[in-house]
Amino acid sequence: MAAFPTLGKANPLIVVDAAHGGSDPGVKAGSEVEKNWNLRFAQALGKALEDLGFEVVQIRKKDETIPLEKRAQAANTVQASAVLVIHADCEWTGSRSGPMIVVEPPNQSAESSGIPRWGVITPYQYRLSMKLGRDIAQALGVGTELSTLSDGRGLAGEPNSATARIFCLPHQSLRYLVPPAVVLTPLFLSRGPDVRKYSADEAVAEFAARVARGVANYLQY
Ligand SMILES: [Zn+2]
Repeated sequence: MAAFPTLGKANPLIVVDAAHGGSDPGVKAGSEVEKNWNLRFAQALGKALEDLGFEVVQIRKKDETIPLEKRAQAANTVQASAVLVIHADCEWTGSRSGPMIVVEPPNQSAESSGIPRWGVITPYQYRLSMKLGRDIAQALGVGTELSTLSDGRGLAGEPNSATARIFCLPHQSLRYLVPPAVVLTPLFLSRGPDVRKYSADEAVAEFAARVARGVANYLQY
């Protein structure tokens, strides 16, 4: 059973947040619109997590506009064991591909003041989020090192490589979250092979099943 605090719940609770939505489409590449892809992956991920016995809270269930503060508030108040925020990405060369996992760096001011407060990433929380990211990367079969494109703060001595898929970077979707959290980017909409692959529901379901397995490993569930 779970070796992680579940706060009285029968099963660990995971928050899944399909980024953007409604009046905020996210990135676009040709006819592909990020908000739709995020929702599709979030729904598959929710199902995969439920299949493993987790409780799941979806922040966005349809094409609606939800402000960042509301998302963070919802994720923080349910006392989740982990938060997974789904974004798709896009870049002009079309050469970058998913998956990509983003972890928010620790906030230095919290360390110096010693007062953890809402909106501050403590070193402890950073380490939990990094562990979550690594367990997901491992389940996806990609490198668990940090990308050399990462923000260097708080990372002295950690192994990194140019092909790694974990990025330690400030991200607007993560900075107000209290539970361990990562941004998960399954694909780049600017990359044809990514889009073609994940146009099949089976490919999305398989990706979701691997991520869910990574979350289960992280929680030793
Ligand atoms: Zn996005």
